[in-house]
Amino acid sequence: MNKTVQSLQRRLIALGFPLPKYGADGDPGGETIAAVNAALDEIEKLRGVKPSSQQRNNAPLKSSTPQAAAITSMVILQQPKASRPIKEIVVHCTATPEGRDVSVDTIRSWHVGQGWKDIGYHYVVMLDGTVEPGRPEEQIGSHVAGHNTGTLGIVYVGGVSKDGKTPKDTRTPAQKAALMDLTRALIAKYPTIKKVTGHNQYSAKACPSFDVRKDPLSSLVD
Ligand SMILES: [Zn+2]
Repeated sequence: MNKTVQSLQRRLIALGFPLPKYGADGDPGGETIAAVNAALDEIEKLRGVKPSSQQRNNAPLKSSTPQAAAITSMVILQQPKASRPIKEIVVHCTATPEGRDVSVDTIRSWHVGQGWKDIGYHYVVMLDGTVEPGRPEEQIGSHVAGHNTGTLGIVYVGGVSKDGKTPKDTRTPAQKAALMDLTRALIAKYPTIKKVTGHNQYSAKACPSFDVRKDPLSSLVD
């Protein structure tokens, strides 16, 4: 039983997506996934876009409202789950200037250009709080030397001031909210996660340009 999943299931039922067989049992089974898909189709219809069930893994997710937080949780649940034990989330920044958005494809091209097989991070948080999947959770990331195996890497776009070099916590309010939503959703999916850390706790780098230990993100684990 997972309380975050259960609260999501309650919200689904309240939104008119019943779970007749199992109810809000806190277990993200097939019935929940189907209801999540139906809800997402509905949300896309409300937004006037075509239901994207087929390419949902790449669909952008807005994360700055409670409803958006639910969507983030739902989509995180839909991503295939890693089979290796996940114990920790490591937070990064893209080290790009404040105010400049950078797409997942651009970050992927930097990393592939470095000889990696894919983008190094598992999720990317855009300036407007949109959460986009990067490397599949099933695959070990490439984001923190010596600690990639048991971790998932998440990154926010930004992290340096407009001069392009001075480390700065440039997170927008939407990014702060989205990082919380994303981290909460991942902890719900992997109850084995016991730590949320920053890259700078493992290497002499400024990344992610703030101290995760003093941020509300670290209070999401006990
Ligand atoms: Zn980093």
